[in-house]
Amino acid sequence: MKIIPYPHPTLRRVSKPLRRVDADLKSLIREMFDLMYEARGIGLAANQVGVPLRFFIVNLEAAPDKGEELVFINPVLSRAKGSGEAEEGCLSLPSLYGNVSRPKQIRVDAYNLQGQPYSATLTGLFSRCVQHESDHLDGVMFIDRMTDFARASIRETLEEFQIDFDSRRSMGEYGDDAAIAETWRQWESRYA
Ligand code: ZN
Repeated sequence: MKIIPYPHPTLRRVSKPLRRVDADLKSLIREMFDLMYEARGIGLAANQVGVPLRFFIVNLEAAPDKGEELVFINPVLSRAKGSGEAEEGCLSLPSLYGNVSRPKQIRVDAYNLQGQPYSATLTGLFSRCVQHESDHLDGVMFIDRMTDFARASIRETLEEFQIDFDSRRSMGEYGDDAAIAETWRQWESRYA
């Protein structure tokens, strides 16, 4: 399992609700935490590892021996309040950062890995992180939420990501669109 980079098509997939959790999925989530820590991230969505299902993981401390490991399954955001701008990055766009404006406060309703409902009103970094990861489940990336002016300044970097992705793809690393669609079908028929 690897973190897939922009502009992999699975990052633009609107993920399907997760209908069941089994031992394989639990070990996949364990692997996702390990990958996230390796990349020093605080959040990782399932479609960032090629799995088009509605869940993401968070540990705001970005380290296995610190903070709290949280899994958000089928999250729903509501009651957005306020607005604030801060710099974001993304493990699917390594070394790229940009300012994004988002609601300051948000309510999240989700399920945890044990199938129990989880609800919280979030602020600060936690709120921003959950909004960023929820966006992934809808195929939205933080670069989509940057102002046109800010996005113009990263246009060349995005082109470099595209060129790198195309060349890896031509070497067979990611498969063609049909192969990627087949992996979506497999995940969805098993879990969605
Ligand atoms: Zn991201």
